[in-house]
Amino acid sequence: MKLFVAEDDTVLADALLTRLARLGFDTEHAADGIAAQQRLLDDNFDAVILDIGLPGLDGLQVLRNVRVHKPALPILILTALDSMEDRVAGLDAGADDYLVKPFEFPELEARIRALLRRQRVGGDSPQRDELRFGRLRLDRGGQRAWADNQPLELSARELQLLDILMGNADRVVTKEQIAGELSGDGEEVGANAVEVYVHRLRKKLDGSGVAVRAVRGLGYLLAAE
Ligand code: CA
Repeated sequence: MKLFVAEDDTVLADALLTRLARLGFDTEHAADGIAAQQRLLDDNFDAVILDIGLPGLDGLQVLRNVRVHKPALPILILTALDSMEDRVAGLDAGADDYLVKPFEFPELEARIRALLRRQRVGGDSPQRDELRFGRLRLDRGGQRAWADNQPLELSARELQLLDILMGNADRVVTKEQIAGELSGDGEEVGANAVEVYVHRLRKKLDGSGVAVRAVRGLGYLLAAE
C-alpha cells in the first residue's frame, strides 16, 4: 500500500511518515503543492493525505486538478481548526474525508483504513475490481475467490488476507502490515491472529497451485507453484 503525504509542516510530516511506515505503508512526501500534484498525476497511490495550506499551489487546487484525472483515488484532507470553509470546499472539490488539525494519530490511522477499505469494496466506482494470481481469481467487490473456476470457501478475514497478499503479489508483506490492514472499526488484529488466518488460508489454498510462503523474519509472500 502506497500512501502519499503532502504537508509543508516538517515536524508533522516527519511524524506522519514515521507512523505510517511503522504501520507497513510505503510512503512518499512532498512539501509543496506543485511537487505534490506532479507526483499524484504521474504515479498511482493507494491513498493521499493532503494538507490544504500548501506553498506553491494551494491544496484545494491540487485536489481539484488531481480529481479530474483520478476520480477513484482516496484523498483525505487536513485543515486548520478554524477553517470550516476549507472543509466544505475540500469535500466539494472531491475529498473523501477530512481531519482537523491538531489531530490524534490513531484517528488518522482509522480514517486511512476506512478509506482504503471503502476503495477495496468498490466505493462509488461502478466497475468491479478483480485480482488474478496463478490460478487464483479474486472478485474484490463481490468478496469471492476461485481457484480455476472452483469457488473457494473463505471467511471474510481469509478473503481480506488473500486480497492483501494478491495485491502485493511477488512482494513480501510483513505481519504488521497485514495486522494493520485487518484492524479497524475498533477491532485490533494482532500478529498472533494474523498467523492463525495465514494458517487457515494456507489449508484452503491447498491444491490451488498457489501457496502462502513464510519468509523468515520478514513476513509472507504469495507464490505460484
Ligand atoms: Ca500547511
